[in-house]
Amino acid sequence: IIDMTSGTTYLKGKLLGKGGFAKCYEMTDIKSNVSYAGKIISKNRLNKPHQKEKILREIELHRSLRNAHVVAFHSYFEDDDNVYIILEVCRKKSLVHVLKNRKTLTEPEVRFHMKHLIEGTRYIHRERVIHRDLKLGNMLLNDVMQVKIADFGLATRVEYDGELKMTVCGTPNYIAPEVLQKKGHSYEADVWAMGCVMYAMLVGRPPFETATLKETYLRITSNKYHIPPHLSPTASALIRRFLHPDPHKRPKLDKVLQDDFFVTGFMPKKLASSCTDTAPTFS
Ligand code: ADP
Repeated sequence: IIDMTSGTTYLKGKLLGKGGFAKCYEMTDIKSNVSYAGKIISKNRLNKPHQKEKILREIELHRSLRNAHVVAFHSYFEDDDNVYIILEVCRKKSLVHVLKNRKTLTEPEVRFHMKHLIEGTRYIHRERVIHRDLKLGNMLLNDVMQVKIADFGLATRVEYDGELKMTVCGTPNYIAPEVLQKKGHSYEADVWAMGCVMYAMLVGRPPFETATLKETYLRITSNKYHIPPHLSPTASALIRRFLHPDPHKRPKLDKVLQDDFFVTGFMPKKLASSCTDTAPTFS
């Protein structure tokens, strides 16, 4: 695959994953021998104007971000058939895959992943971007098990202080009550999603999951969820803070790493990549 704008030639390698729009392949720059994840979006699938808009917004927002916990944006180009987005490769897939294998994670692992998620999201918010679709499938893992936030397809930039966004073009997975109710939402919607992510990692399913979307939405707006008693008191308390119905009462990302969950519990310095399949033992 040739990027005519820069004259770079990539060798297309193995399929890394498929999404709603894109197929993601390992792509190696043959000159430097550096591998990337190439998100390939067929132009045939971009026939509705809002789909093209979604991709352009994703590129415009993502290319401006650079942080250890955000998938690095390398470049993008197109040919007659496809749009190509060249990204940092995350070979250990996503936390969805880990949860599938493991069912639930240990509290030290959750502390480790949540710290990365918080650091990445805090950076994104400082850049005035709301991600709006934080979920396990958008938390990719590199070879050393560092979380990298992916997929800016539903993200938006805050244009002025205090701006409230009224609608999302798409359906966020862990949608916050203020987004559902179209009351106006901002950064706090991402903090809500963090609570859902943390709950899902510890419990093995999302907090508001039911058989129907309608019932799920009812539970979200009435803040009805159950935390199993086997979770530690500090983990339960932090989940409750994240899932506060009032967006302004949710934790501030600048301070949340001072919460008891992080301060009083064991924080691993690193995680072995075997954690994708088997629970670690810390000694
Ligand atoms: P879509 O926007 O179409 O949903 P995604 O961004 O979710 O596409 O990408 C589709 C899949 O490709 C993801 O679920 C993931 O498995 C894989 N993927 C995406 N980005 C990367 C990456 N940087 N490194 C490795 N795999 C990736």
